[in-house]
Amino acid sequence: MIAILTSGGDAPGMNAAIRAVVRSAQDAGHHVLGVPNGYAGLMEGNYLHLGQRSVDGIMYRGGTMLGSARSVEFKTKAGRQKALANLHAAGATALVVVGGNGSQTGAYALEQMGFPVVGIASTIDNDLLGTDVTLGVDTAINIAVEAIDRLQTTAGSHRRAFLVEVMGRDCGYLALQAAIAGGAEAVAIPEVETHPERIEATLRQAHERGRRGGIVVVAEGAKYNAEALAAWFKADGAQLGYELRTITLGHVQRGGTPTAADRVLGSRLGAEAVRVLLEGQSGVLVGIQSGSLCTTPLGDIAGKTKTPDLSLLALAEALAL
Ligand code: ATP
Repeated sequence: MIAILTSGGDAPGMNAAIRAVVRSAQDAGHHVLGVPNGYAGLMEGNYLHLGQRSVDGIMYRGGTMLGSARSVEFKTKAGRQKALANLHAAGATALVVVGGNGSQTGAYALEQMGFPVVGIASTIDNDLLGTDVTLGVDTAINIAVEAIDRLQTTAGSHRRAFLVEVMGRDCGYLALQAAIAGGAEAVAIPEVETHPERIEATLRQAHERGRRGGIVVVAEGAKYNAEALAAWFKADGAQLGYELRTITLGHVQRGGTPTAADRVLGSRLGAEAVRVLLEGQSGVLVGIQSGSLCTTPLGDIAGKTKTPDLSLLALAEALAL
């Protein structure tokens, strides 16, 4: 019997992964147990039997039908022992963990205690090693870009500059993608030192060139987030030419309908996780590299983070003329 949980921040496409795990496992003659609320639920032990019909109509919904949570107790050995006792008592023989960096570190810890675990790379931050893209990031980028498109129109109408803060924790991937796709004037990411005076000069020059509005995409993990950057401009008496406004997109980026790309990715990763488990493999993360499904040992990715392609920063700046 295969158990499945979703953990960490919810990511659009998690439901597609759950559906694929349930249907692929059932197709191969295995039952599936759904664990509510991530590792917190794993330690509580009230698991649900998931049949083919339990996952009807969930594909187009954001979030996760199983719920998610963050748990400090699971980080302790005693917490994980409680979780393992519950898994054994429920008759589970393997666990699929759909989640981001922290969740996969937890998955590795369980595997090291002798329980077979396979991870599915899922976070809107796209900061996991072992995969080019994580489940949920495509939807998050598209939501951010839609918001930027809307802000572009009002920025242009009112001659304003917007500092648009996007999620991504300590990773600038989402900000870089959103900046390029949204045609932003500048972008600030955690991986590269931000110089507020450069952003000020960029906006002023855009104004002087006749741009009616400006957009600066700021990653939440950048040294200067949107609030800090706005405070710097104010304290410096920055002459931007534009009236400045700040907007934090926040959790809006994680909500709503998953894109087709995230639904397909969730379906592929879910089916692959089951295939890998039934083949006798465990202790791996299922991801996608150069378009192909792949597995990476959890020990190689746990506790580490991926750096985005920083050439995208130069591209974003070069195209903002
Ligand atoms: P997101 O990228 O969306 O934030 P995440 O999986 O990185 O997702 P975290 O909050 O970092 O989210 O981790 C989720 C859960 O994984 C934690 O609440 C904790 O229960 C477990 N976890 C994190 N780190 C560890 C660890 N070192 N050992 C055991 N469990 C861990």
